[in-house]
Amino acid sequence: MQSKKIREIVNILKEYNNFIITSHVNLDGDALGSELALYFILKQLQKRVTIINQDRIPYIYSFMPGIGNIICGDMLGNNFVLNIKPETVLIVLDSSNLERIGNIGIDLKKTKLIVNIDHHPSNTNYGHINYIDTTSSSVGEIIFHLCTELGCQLTEQIAKLLYAAIITDTGSFRYANTRAETFHSAYLLAKAGANPHLIANYIYNNNELSGLKLLGEALLKLQTDLDSKISWTIVTREMIQHTCAKEEETEGIVDRILSIKCVQVSVLFRETGEGKIKISFRSKGEFNVDCFAKIFGGGGHPNAAGCQLEGNIHTIVEKIISELKRALDSFQFKYNSQSFSREI
Ligand code: 5GP
Ligand code: MN
Repeated sequence: MQSKKIREIVNILKEYNNFIITSHVNLDGDALGSELALYFILKQLQKRVTIINQDRIPYIYSFMPGIGNIICGDMLGNNFVLNIKPETVLIVLDSSNLERIGNIGIDLKKTKLIVNIDHHPSNTNYGHINYIDTTSSSVGEIIFHLCTELGCQLTEQIAKLLYAAIITDTGSFRYANTRAETFHSAYLLAKAGANPHLIANYIYNNNELSGLKLLGEALLKLQTDLDSKISWTIVTREMIQHTCAKEEETEGIVDRILSIKCVQVSVLFRETGEGKIKISFRSKGEFNVDCFAKIFGGGGHPNAAGCQLEGNIHTIVEKIISELKRALDSFQFKYNSQSFSREI
């Protein structure tokens, strides 16, 4: 905990009255859980709060308390402009750079301050105040500490939201960002009323048939290079259309194909529009996909990252996979010789 920085944020939250909260495109459980928990915390302090995101809310998060309060920029159209009261503070959660919030109809020049709260190592410190804790499992865990520092009540609503943020960003306590402290936060959240079983059911046992059909199609197209320890697959517009799947139902495919025994890195290539390709990377162990995604203008975490490219999906697959093979082969050579020298 960077206690001086957190106190600076506490002072801003106490001093100002008008807040806008936002997060990144492709909303996930950490973005939404953290936004809504902070919303309820600020409401306890009698503040005026608006949450606005570019993208629509994935169906599995509709159980979240307060979800109906979130404004969705995409539903309001391109020309939508949010009326900003004087002295408004914009709080950006879980977004490693300012471009990743997308279009939320805000003239940033009209905001008084930008407070940037995140846990991505690649964060560009774009705020006037930047609280970046790369050791935190999730932004949810940071908001949990902020709630304590503010002396606010950890209500059942807030506990549910923050517990959901933590489990989604840690893959239910399986990823490398899970620390002893994460369990401590989760323990306190469960004590405050978050029910682990119910929340897990909402998030993981709430699939539409279309999502499973899409997973099946993606698994039929699975490719592997077991020498290089890579697995990859694609999701085209045509696959989305004929399974009737929603965009959000591509979530999880890249994690499923990482589960193969000797695979170290998995990649999902997804057509999001005409010639627009979103690439998701996942890794086990030491290979840093955040660094690899940065080569192509993206970023993320050491074991989960992404980027967006334009062009033909098959050409992009070929280019990325050959670069990845090269990077992994030289990484494995370096890694094996290091462990060999450690052994002797
Ligand atoms: P996903 O593959 O689930 O979309 O994203 C995995 C991680 O990478 C998340 O932490 C996400 O914020 C980050 N990420 C995904 N795409 C991009 C991108 O284009 N730029 C940056 N900076 N981060 C990304
Ligand atoms: Mn996060």
